[in-house]
Amino acid sequence: MNKLIEKASEEHNLTRDELITLLREDALNEEIFAAADKVRQKYVGDGIHLRGLIEFSNFCRNNCCYCGLRRDNKNIERYRIDENTIFQLAKHASENMGLKTIVLQSGEDMFFDCDKLCSIIRKIKTLGVALTLSIGEKSLTEYQAYKTAGADRFLLRIETTDKQLYLDNDPGMNWENRVECIKNLGIAGLEIGTGILVGLPKQKTESYADDILFFKNVHADMIGIGPFIPHPDTPLKNAKGGDLKTALKVMALTRLLLPDINIPATTAMETLAPNGQIRALRAGANVIMPNITLTEYRKHYELYPGKSTTGYTPDESLKDVKEKISALGRFVATDFGFHLHKI
Ligand code: SAH
Ligand code: SF4
Repeated sequence: MNKLIEKASEEHNLTRDELITLLREDALNEEIFAAADKVRQKYVGDGIHLRGLIEFSNFCRNNCCYCGLRRDNKNIERYRIDENTIFQLAKHASENMGLKTIVLQSGEDMFFDCDKLCSIIRKIKTLGVALTLSIGEKSLTEYQAYKTAGADRFLLRIETTDKQLYLDNDPGMNWENRVECIKNLGIAGLEIGTGILVGLPKQKTESYADDILFFKNVHADMIGIGPFIPHPDTPLKNAKGGDLKTALKVMALTRLLLPDINIPATTAMETLAPNGQIRALRAGANVIMPNITLTEYRKHYELYPGKSTTGYTPDESLKDVKEKISALGRFVATDFGFHLHKI
């Protein structure tokens, strides 16, 4: 085995230069994927955790240049799902679909203030599920209130550790503040989920190495890596976009360096290639997030075009995911899938 891959598999540490070497060398890709698969099996096993995703609002105050929900996009119909419907979706996911984690995701929608969110969190927690939020940048006090109400985890991608690239693509936002928010998740006692986009214009190989070291540095509990897919109603509509191979490589190296965390095979990977998620599950991933939003809303939650779950009902999404899992000889995990600190 290549010496660096061997070192990463055994010590779970690489320097920035070593990471860059592996990221640049495409002849080693299959070896990196196989090593990540092995480390995944050793630390988190063959069970795949399913997290039911509810996209409850597509209103957003931000203007991220890559995202179809950005506030300047006037070509989308905005929606909010009311509290009771959100609860009914979560109930169906828990009681009929057997899902153990509910993920509530939205744009940064000020309508759902702290009180409203805490009320929804408390209601969903009566179902006996784990709850993840993915609703953007909030204050430490708010993160603490969500935790007190029963939230367990929070996803907030850093998007990129290249500060200039972040500023170029997230106008009006502040990179240091985003880092602070990610650290505050941990202070509030929430599991920290973060991650990046791969393939933004001018994103460099060196910065992927920094990203992976950043994940270690903030003690991430989960990492989501998504190839950037250009959206026609955004300033980046003519960009080339990310490729699956690079996204898989960054993901696999993340598994080697953070062996016991949770890593989803992301929907954006599946959108780029019909076997994207399967390839991810064989290169370090151990989580899938089936979409359980009602079909009528899904088409309006267009972070990027062609999202692979658009048009399916929650039950169809689940069936599709379960078929993929059994085809791989893996199984749906029956526990909550918290980060079990094994190193
Ligand atoms: N508003 C919240 C959560 C919803 S956006 C937030 O920003 O944290 C969730 C993720 O979608 C973002 O973190 C971003 O990485 C991803 N995303 C947005 N636009 C995308 C695109 N064009 N291609 C791929 N992923 C995208
Ligand atoms: Fe809003 Fe999140 Fe999209 Fe940025 S990535 S515009 S914060 S929904």
